[in-house]
Amino acid sequence: MAIIRFKALEEAHTRQAVKVDLPSVKTSDYYGINVFDKKQMRKYLSKEAYSRVIEAIDKGERIDRKIADQVADGMKAWAISRGATHYTHWFQPLTDATAEKHDAFLNVDLKDGSPFETFDGSYLSQQEPDASSLPSGGLRNTFEARGYTAWDPSSPAFVVGATLCIPTIFISYTGEALDYKTPLMKALAVVDKAAVAVCEYFDKNVTKVISTLGWEQEYFLIDEALYYARPDLMLTQRTLMGHASAKDQQLEDHYFGSIPERALAYIQDLEVEAYKLGIPVHTRHNEVAPNQFECAPIFEEANIAVDHNLLLMDIMRRVARRHRFKVLFHEKPFKGINGSGKHNNWSLATNTGVNLLSPGKTPKTNLQFLTFLINIVKAVHDYDEILRASVASAGNEHRLGANEAPPAIMSVFLGTQLSAMLDEIENRVTNRKMTPDEKTEIKLDIGRIPEILLDNTDRNRTSPFAFTGNRFEFRAVGSSANCASAMIAVNSAVTKQLIQFKLDVDELIEKNVKKDEAILQVLRKYIIETKRIRFDGDGYSDEWKAEAARRGLTNYADVPTSIKAYIDKKNLDMFTSIGIFSERELHARYDIKLENFIKKIQIESRVLGDLATNHIIPTAIEYQTKLINNVEGLKKIFNDDEYRHIAASTIENIKEISEHVVNIKTKIDSMVEERKVANAIEHIVAKAEAYSKKVKPFLEDIRYHIDKLELLVDNEIWPLPKYRELLFTR
Ligand code: ADP
Ligand code: MG
Repeated sequence: MAIIRFKALEEAHTRQAVKVDLPSVKTSDYYGINVFDKKQMRKYLSKEAYSRVIEAIDKGERIDRKIADQVADGMKAWAISRGATHYTHWFQPLTDATAEKHDAFLNVDLKDGSPFETFDGSYLSQQEPDASSLPSGGLRNTFEARGYTAWDPSSPAFVVGATLCIPTIFISYTGEALDYKTPLMKALAVVDKAAVAVCEYFDKNVTKVISTLGWEQEYFLIDEALYYARPDLMLTQRTLMGHASAKDQQLEDHYFGSIPERALAYIQDLEVEAYKLGIPVHTRHNEVAPNQFECAPIFEEANIAVDHNLLLMDIMRRVARRHRFKVLFHEKPFKGINGSGKHNNWSLATNTGVNLLSPGKTPKTNLQFLTFLINIVKAVHDYDEILRASVASAGNEHRLGANEAPPAIMSVFLGTQLSAMLDEIENRVTNRKMTPDEKTEIKLDIGRIPEILLDNTDRNRTSPFAFTGNRFEFRAVGSSANCASAMIAVNSAVTKQLIQFKLDVDELIEKNVKKDEAILQVLRKYIIETKRIRFDGDGYSDEWKAEAARRGLTNYADVPTSIKAYIDKKNLDMFTSIGIFSERELHARYDIKLENFIKKIQIESRVLGDLATNHIIPTAIEYQTKLINNVEGLKKIFNDDEYRHIAASTIENIKEISEHVVNIKTKIDSMVEERKVANAIEHIVAKAEAYSKKVKPFLEDIRYHIDKLELLVDNEIWPLPKYRELLFTR
């Protein structure tokens, strides 16, 4: 029997690093060359069209048809000059990837058949892709199945290969969002308004606040041949079986070590592609697990950052082909070694150039800093469950609460010094008028923040939502996720809270409390109310689980339970009151998440069943037959005493193999039965729960026996590449 595993290994072992032709010019010379950015717009658009697009970007103003025609014309000329023959609306349906449908610029004159290129404002502004098979959660029934894509002028168009890609939102015929971008843009618009209103207490020059996002993308690289020799990786992006390698990450020799040659060539190649598309990729390094890497850009405005992350993931997949790699974005491709996340570094920045989460130089700017900090803590406190729901997925379930990534309990880390500062405010501020001395003292303390933050080096790595000196880092986001989901939740919750803060402060001001005192009093109230969400200790420890339970914090690691938050009244009210989602849209999103979870577990369960039955059991039996023949042979040549002694361990192996095979067989039968039961359930919530509670446990259960067999069976006939081969082939 030809074993594909060995062919794959030979291919992988002899693979050389691909030679990358790095540009001879410096990066800034070709950075953004494939982006229709402001510089290109100035060149290709009329003055009027240019300034209208800028207004659309800055103020969200609509672009009328006439201007759209002009923009389309300029965009077309630029794109053709960059080698584009086609164009597409590029959008983010509620799947794991982006979607596009290409059309050619080419047109033919009906009269004389002469060819020419067209692209006008109507093509630019709106399209109707036949996207009826994309998830809609029932928002499109058949008679209104159409979905529309509409241009987002705030994210620049770009050329990939020979295609002009135009970032768009995706909505139903009746105007409901069918994507991530629509609600994200709404959330970014409302947080802008709410934050500007709060900034007015401190600085009237602030007229716009943007949300900033810097993601850190973790991923694994696996040789293509080995990947294709693992049907489970191919079909589910994770290994459903595989015994731990004798050596994996315990020596921590991969983390920040020198990047292996083939991987480095790949990374350099993809960086060049990223730079051409204006993605400011900045750091590259090995991650904790073997063959695991991370790249992070310089942070950007959140809508652009989200688009750039999705685009980069696309490029990473594409460039990988050239290097004979497969990129794994799955949150947990390998059991027992680190999974992959996508930390979302997030902050708010003003048009005056101030990072609202960066302490300033004066008591006044620091009061502004504390105001935003404490309001964010309050937002996480009030809406912790929607934050967790926003990152929940079948893949991320393996990370959250599994003792490596952040736990499934939401909490905020502030560090000892900031925590002490909050205690200070709690103790010193009172609800009566402060004396001049008291005021001076608190001002002095608040003024000292920059100093203390400089040596705020206790960077807690186990917190799901950590303050890291000048931003928050939401660490629970999964590596395969669209960051928009988390960014919608964070920005919406913070908006709701900032609006409340303004109401609370204004109420006191109306009662003649001085502004600064009113702010301090409200902050103090929040500090007291939100204590339970603050935790600076080890988030992985069992003590924290017990402590969190005492504090009344929820701990839902499983998807069906955690995503219930989407239809919880409190969160429904929050989202609808600030205009991010309608109730119908939230229910649709909830259904889509359930559906997605069900399908993922269903596929994993089927793949495992097939592999166990068609690959593992036959191999185990083949080897067992060899052992039986051996034992029979021994019996012929030795006397009874000798035979008993010599054959004992082999007979033991024969028995062990039988036990595992029997276990695998019966468990697969039971799993299939449970799947049938689950599939017959009409109600989607109950169905997801059945998949979570009844089907999913079999995956681990069956795997246990397969992994034991891997240790018993002759290496020469084991069909699937082993962990040591997948993880250490360079
Ligand atoms: P670490 O590994 O220490 O978390 P990285 O350098 O890997 O740090 O990632 C930090 C990320 O945070 C980068 O993408 C960086 O641009 C981003 N970042 C820094 N400041 C801000 C900010 N104000 N808002 C959003 N992201 C930020
Ligand atoms: Mg980080």
